[in-house]
Amino acid sequence: MTKNAPGRNDREGLTIIDLFKMFPDDEAAEKWFEDQRWPEGRKCCPDCGSMNYAVVANRRPMPYRCRDCRSYFSVKKGTVMQSSKIGLQKWLFAMYMMSTSLKGAASMKVYRELGITQKTAWFLTQRIREGFKKGNARSMIGPVEADETYVGGKRGNMHASRRKKFEGRGTAGKTAVVGVKDRASNAVSAKVVSRTDAETLQGFVADNADPAATVYTDDARAYKGLPNHESVSHSVGEYVRNQAHTNGIESFWSLMKRGYKGIYHKMSPKHLDRYVREFAGRHNVRDSGTLEQMAVLSCGLVGARLRYRDLIEDNGLDSGARAIAV
Ligand SMILES: [Zn+2]
Repeated sequence: MTKNAPGRNDREGLTIIDLFKMFPDDEAAEKWFEDQRWPEGRKCCPDCGSMNYAVVANRRPMPYRCRDCRSYFSVKKGTVMQSSKIGLQKWLFAMYMMSTSLKGAASMKVYRELGITQKTAWFLTQRIREGFKKGNARSMIGPVEADETYVGGKRGNMHASRRKKFEGRGTAGKTAVVGVKDRASNAVSAKVVSRTDAETLQGFVADNADPAATVYTDDARAYKGLPNHESVSHSVGEYVRNQAHTNGIESFWSLMKRGYKGIYHKMSPKHLDRYVREFAGRHNVRDSGTLEQMAVLSCGLVGARLRYRDLIEDNGLDSGARAIAV
């Protein structure tokens, strides 16, 4: 736990050697997950909230029994790991890979490194992504930069009939993403949106930024009418005027798109929101040490749920089913 990542002298990295020493087996990983979830040591029943429980000998995988509601539980219960047969050491190693890779870790890599099936790795990484969501919600004091971008959907790769449908629209076949970046804290919040009208974009700004925060945007019409708003006219070549610019959120978009192209190759519209929140969640803890990043992520897993059938269920967006799952 001594090496610093290049360029970040003040954050504490964790080498893969350290990781193996700290978590040689599932028991060590389970202890760590328990310490994150119940830092005082006393467990809390995920079903009824009672702290009156008994440790049950030889009752894996549910080592605790609630004396009030009589249900058995483990650290996995009530988290995205519930019902998972994957050992906690593998969960932790996958979280390590996804936390330490700036542009994300493709499930193809996780599958090879952990010796699990490709399908299991894909489901595992999608569930870990749920854990990054909590790191998105925050109140930004500002000034904030707000912007939207479009991801995916190269027309050249599209089937001719589909291409025809989108002809003539600049954002053809792409999925819209809106984001805000707080200059005060450097935090980013972003999500997929189905429309880029004023109601949607301004609603997103209002959900994340303090009403008194100054908001900088480009000259897109949808932002007109925001309180404390200043814009730069990208359409006439103006990118920076005094403090008014959107360079911060744009650099976040460019990192996300480098991950999209270089690591994931394809993020289907259906699952894009999870990737977007992963990038924002990781961005928001990037100055923390690796173990702390993993601790934040483990907190995000609590209260989250993603069942396989919900993951593959149609949500009205293109699944990109012909592409290789990443
Ligand atoms: Zn209970």
